[in-house]
Parts: sequence; structure tokens; C-alpha cells
Amino acid sequence: REEVNALRNRHKIHVQGTDLPEPVESFSQLQTEYQLLPQLVENIVAVGYVDPTPIQMQAVTVMMHRRELLACAPTGSGKTAAFILPALTHLKKPGRMGFRVVVVSPTRELAKQTYREFQRLATGTGFHICMIGKSDVAKQKFGPKSPQKFDILVTTPNRLIHLLQLTPPGVSMKNVEWLIVDECDKLFEAGKQGFRDQLAVIYKACDSSHVRRAMFSATYTYEVEQWCKLNLDNVVTICVGGRNS
Ligand code: ADP
Ligand code: ADP
Ligand code: MG
Repeated sequence: REEVNALRNRHKIHVQGTDLPEPVESFSQLQTEYQLLPQLVENIVAVGYVDPTPIQMQAVTVMMHRRELLACAPTGSGKTAAFILPALTHLKKPGRMGFRVVVVSPTRELAKQTYREFQRLATGTGFHICMIGKSDVAKQKFGPKSPQKFDILVTTPNRLIHLLQLTPPGVSMKNVEWLIVDECDKLFEAGKQGFRDQLAVIYKACDSSHVRRAMFSATYTYEVEQWCKLNLDNVVTICVGGRNS
């Protein structure tokens, strides 16, 4: 529709893919049209977000439709909330079935920032959000004999793979609904070429029939695009701003 195109143009939202979900202009639209969790709506107000940022306008609705995506938008444009809001809405409420959302970050510092944004936006929801600490503690906490009372994992690739490769595995990925790779361009950068294999291990471990994947990045690179076209299901690509800004 013309209106939709005008909205995308106004916010420099470029999209590619089939059956593209429409963007929304406001958080209240996410509430009425997408049943964004009421507690999230409250928390958005409490943290002072008035309107969604351009990447949030489009990426949230794409994820709400459970479509796999590659989302590129400049640093500081609100990519974290763009995946937190739909992911938490899909979980609905805390469970005892282990991790259902896994976010992979390239560095410990970025993982910590994402963890904090989860804590802030999930205030009052009761969701259990975790990071992986010392290996022996982690395997007690997350392993097969633990009560599985956690919902969201934010981690660097090394730490997750370390747990996955223990016998028995120190964590199960069998109930993961969203695998989110943040700053995925950094993870593909030269010098860290080991990450391709790490990503493959994590990707394979998240093998439930209903798992969805979302890749977020500040830059649009050929390598990332190729990986997504090859490994994601009917991918939607979103770029905000110039193609490489
Ligand atoms: P990115 O991951 O794209 O670099 P972040 O998710 O770290 O960006 O967000 C950058 C800053 O913008 C954070 O302080 C975050 O709390 C804030 N922010 C996110 N969404 C909004 C919004 N809709 N309105 C205002 N501020 C926002
Ligand atoms: P990262 O935070 O990126 O995993 P670290 O410096 O913590 O990097 O990990 C260094 C190495 O220790 C990793 O390459 C990995 O093989 C191993 N390792 C991974 N997870 C853990 C863990 N939970 N505890 C101890 N060692 C780990
Ligand atoms: Mg970010």
C-alpha cells in the first residue's frame, strides 16, 4: 500500500523478502494489533520510550509474525528492544522448560548491556534472564538435573559452546523458540573466522522444529547476507538508513 511505502520511505526503512509484514508507527499499535504484553507496554513508558525507532517499527512486526530476519541499523538505533519486545511477547510468561530465547553477542561487554536491557524491559514479568558464569556453576545451574526455571540466555559464543559440548550437555537448546545473533557482522569479521564454525554449532544445537532465527547488525555486509540467505528460512532483510551506514 502507498501509505506503508510512505512510512518506510520517511524513516529510510528498506525491506526485502516475500509477504512482508507492515511496519507500525507507534507502540500502541503494537499493543492493539500485535498483543504486545501489557507489562511491556508499561515498562516502555517507565523507561521513557515514546515512539518506536525505525528499526523497531519494522523488525518488531516481522518477528511478531515469526519470520526469520536480518536486521541492519546504525549503532544506537534501538536494535536491542527491537528483538526483546517480540521475543518476550512470544514467551507470554515464565516457564520451567529451560531457555526459550537465546541471544548470542560477540563480546562479554555487549552481552552484559543486552542482559541489562532485558532486565529493564522485563521488569515485573517474572521472566528469568541468565548469563553464563563459571563453567562448573553453569552446568549445575542449567544442566539436565536443574529445575530448568529460566527463560532467556544472553551469552558469548564460546561460553555457550563450552556448555553444549560437555557430556552430558550443560544446557539444553531443545525448547529454544528464538535464536538471536546480535552484532552478527562482528562475529563474521576476519581474525575471528572461527566464529563461522561456532555459529554452526549453536545453529545446529537449536534444532527444535519451531525455532526461529534473527540476526542483528550495525552494517550490511555481503558475508552476512550470504550466510542468512543460505541458512535462514524465507528471510526478511531490513536495512535502516543507507545500505552500509
Ligand atoms: P543498538 O543496539 O542499535 O546500538 P541499543 O539497543 O543499544 O542500540 O539502544 C541505544 C539506546 O537507545 C539505549 O539507551 C536504549 O535504551 C535507547 N532506546 C531504544 N529504543 C528506544 C526508543 N524507542 N525510544 C527512545 N530510546 C530508545
Ligand atoms: P568468552 O567470554 O568469549 O566465552 P572467555 O575468555 O570467557 O571468552 O573464554 C575463554 C575460553 O574458556 C573459551 O574459549 C572457552 O573454551 C572456555 N570457556 C567457555 N566457557 C567457559 C566457562 N563458562 N567457564 C570457563 N571456561 C569457559
Ligand atoms: Mg546493539
